[in-house]
Amino acid sequence: MNTTHISIVVPAFNEAESVQELFLRTKKVMDELNVTYEFILVDDGSTDGTAERLMELRRENPQIAILRHYRNHGKSLALMQAFDVARGRILVTMDADLQDQPEDIPKFLAKLVDGYDMVGGCRQSREDGKLRWIASKLFNWLVYKLAGSHFKDINCGFKAFTHDVASRFDLRGDMHRLMPLLAVTTGARFGEVPIDHAPRRYGVSKYRLVRHRGLLDVFAFSAIRSTQTRPFHVFTEMGFSSSVIGILLLGLWLAVAYGFDSAGASSAILLGLGCWFVLVGTLCPFFGLHLEAMTSYLNDTAWRKTLIKHYSEA
Ligand code: UDP
Ligand code: MG
Repeated sequence: MNTTHISIVVPAFNEAESVQELFLRTKKVMDELNVTYEFILVDDGSTDGTAERLMELRRENPQIAILRHYRNHGKSLALMQAFDVARGRILVTMDADLQDQPEDIPKFLAKLVDGYDMVGGCRQSREDGKLRWIASKLFNWLVYKLAGSHFKDINCGFKAFTHDVASRFDLRGDMHRLMPLLAVTTGARFGEVPIDHAPRRYGVSKYRLVRHRGLLDVFAFSAIRSTQTRPFHVFTEMGFSSSVIGILLLGLWLAVAYGFDSAGASSAILLGLGCWFVLVGTLCPFFGLHLEAMTSYLNDTAWRKTLIKHYSEA
C-alpha cells in the first residue's frame, strides 16, 4: 500500500554544491511535520557530479530517489518525469539552488489543507536582479492580458499541488512557467503564499533571455493560447491593424513628399512610422501562424517519446 504523503521534486542542472544542504534542511522540516515523504532529484544532464553528491546521502536516507538525464533537456521535462514516478498524494516542486527555502514548505501545505488544489510561492523580493524582476512582472501581465487569469508570481518554481492536478497537463519547452495557468484552466483552485527568496549562493542561473533552446520558449506561449480564453489571433489582429495604419501613413508621406509640402523632417518621420507599422503588420500575423504550426507539431506525442529515450533511472 502506498503510504507516501508528500513527494518533493527538485530539478537540478549543475547544482552539486547545493543539493546536500537542500536535502538536509528539507529532511529537518519534514521530520518535524511527521509525514512520510520522498525526495526526488532529477539530475538534468549535470556535468558537475550533482547526482553523485546526493547519492552519498542516499545510503542513510532511502527516501531519496534520483532520476537522471544523460543530456540537458530543460526544467519542464525534468519535472514531468518526476511527476510520472512520484508516489505522494501531494507534490512539492522546489529549485535546487537554495533560492527557495525548504522551511517555507509548511506554509504551502497549510494552504492546501484550506482547500486549494495548487499553491504557488509569491516572492516578496527578487534576489536575481532588477531586469529579472521587470521581466517577471511583464510575464504576469502578459498572461493576464492573453489568458485573463491574474497571478502575482506565476513564474515561481516553488509550488505544492495534488497529484491529481499534476496528471491533468503536459509540460514542454518552458511551460513549467505556466503550471498555475494550466491548472486553473482544468478547474483547479489556485492560491499563493508569500515566501522569501534568497540570492543564489553557488553556480550560475540557467535562465537566459535568449537561451540555446530559445525556439522552445514559444511553447510557453502556445500553452497560453491553448487556454483559449483570449485566442492568439490577437497577434493577427494587431498585425492587420498595423498594416492598415502603415499604408495610410505611407500614403500621407507620398502626398507630403510629392504634393503640397516637402519639409524633410516631417516626411522622414512619416516614412519611419509607416515602415515600422508595415514591418509589425507583416511580422505579427507571421508569428501567429508560426505558433499555430508549432502547436500542431507539439501535439505529436512521438516527439516527446524520442526525448524520453535518453532517460534512465540512476
Ligand atoms: N534547471 C534544470 N534544467 C535546466 C535549467 C535549470 O533542471 O535546463 C533547474 C536548476 O538547477 C534549478 C531550477 O531548475 O534547480 C531553476 O533554475 P535556475 O535557478 O537557474 O533559474 P532561476 O532561479 O535563475 O530562474
Ligand atoms: Mg534559481
